[in-house]
Amino acid sequence: MYQTIVIGAGIAGSVVARQLAEEGGRRVLVLEQRAHIGGNCYDRRDAHGVLIHEYGPHIFHTNDEGVYEYLSRFTEWYLYPQGHQVVASVGDSYLPIPFNLNTLHQIYEKDKATELEQKLIAAFGEGSRVPIMELRKSEDADIQNIAQFVYENVFLKYTMKQWGQTPEEISPEVTARVPVLISYDNRYFQDRYQGVPTDGFTAMFARMLEHENIDVQCGVEATERLTITQEGVLLDGQPFAGEVIYTGALDELFSCRFGRLPYRSLRFDFEHLEQEDFQNGHSVVNYTVSEDFTRITEFQYLTGQTDCDGTTIVREYPFAYSGADGEIPYYAIQNEENESLYNKYRALTENIPDFYLLGRLAEYKYYNIDAMTRKALELAERIMEEKK
Ligand SMILES: Cc1cc2nc3c(=O)[nH]c(=O)nc-3n(C[C@H](O)[C@H](O)[C@H](O)COP(=O)(O)OP(=O)(O)OC[C@H]3O[C@@H](n4cnc5c(N)ncnc54)[C@H](O)[C@@H]3O)c2cc1C
Repeated sequence: MYQTIVIGAGIAGSVVARQLAEEGGRRVLVLEQRAHIGGNCYDRRDAHGVLIHEYGPHIFHTNDEGVYEYLSRFTEWYLYPQGHQVVASVGDSYLPIPFNLNTLHQIYEKDKATELEQKLIAAFGEGSRVPIMELRKSEDADIQNIAQFVYENVFLKYTMKQWGQTPEEISPEVTARVPVLISYDNRYFQDRYQGVPTDGFTAMFARMLEHENIDVQCGVEATERLTITQEGVLLDGQPFAGEVIYTGALDELFSCRFGRLPYRSLRFDFEHLEQEDFQNGHSVVNYTVSEDFTRITEFQYLTGQTDCDGTTIVREYPFAYSGADGEIPYYAIQNEENESLYNKYRALTENIPDFYLLGRLAEYKYYNIDAMTRKALELAERIMEEKK
């Protein structure tokens, strides 16, 4: 009855399912282990009516016009008038990050800041984005000091918390790339479109999956319905003749037989407060020098919700994923060793007919929502081309 099975109803699975159903005219079965669609973009109202992002704050941002247009079929957008802005909590101040000329003027007194601004513009050009490695190479001690300030107050502790690393373990290439912006642009991303779906991500996913050719079954662990063999896939014990697109963790598909792929996980501590505002209008505050959590998100400012009674915040605590029940693998830890472990698993899928890996888990890679959408559109195109 079905021509396609998609495992996972995150952005990867939902886009590919919609395309194959609509453009490819296939009957598509989507199997999702969670009780809801949307993957990690899932949002919902909490007990106080505040729209929260269950798996961490998600902001859609892109320069890809095609992706923006495609997703706009399923939602309208609340686009941030000033772009998405992030500040770092350092001492008693909120400092704009990435470090830019506004930050400079906040940490130095006026005359010194003006002098430094002129030096930076003369050395690197107005509007440029300069890695701290470049600042360090400067012969000017003041400019070197700026690099040191950014390293210590914005980058080091945050990165240690996020990745569970000691300063020695942090790759010098990563450190070198930490940017300083020689402009007054406080935006965290430089993309043209930055915002969230007006009535939430989950509603956008629901519209995408609402198609006569698509059936979605939530609360279904796909590995309990599917058997993967080198000859092909069995659905409920019967050979399945169509294509299977898998967006789940690749090691788990093979019972982690070569060992687990390492990930960083996160614990999200939500708190509702009976006050109008918690962080002075900022949606995201990064804790770059203190605290065990990396950041606090205040949802009303992330989503633009104006009818909140009180405010809801979430603190994020990173930790090493162990695979224990209830833990969620969030960030792939990409290095040579893990890549080669991943490739061993991928090799097991290479000869399975009509079996495709797609998504942050199946590909063991970090993707933003826009890049994932693009990749899913391309895969659907490729499948339809191959099967013409
Ligand atoms: C904390 C955090 C914040 C982020 N913030 C942003 C942001 O601000 N902007 C941005 O663009 N991107 C952001 N991202 C990235 C974004 O989450 C990903 O691009 C997106 O989730 C990738 O979609 P996906 O479909 O590959 O994976 P997922 O969203 O993880 O979806 C995979 C789905 O497959 C299901 N599944 C897995 N295995 C099985 C199985 N065996 N059976 C059935 N179902 C299964 C899962 O339950 C899940 O629903 C963030 C990521 C994290 C971790």
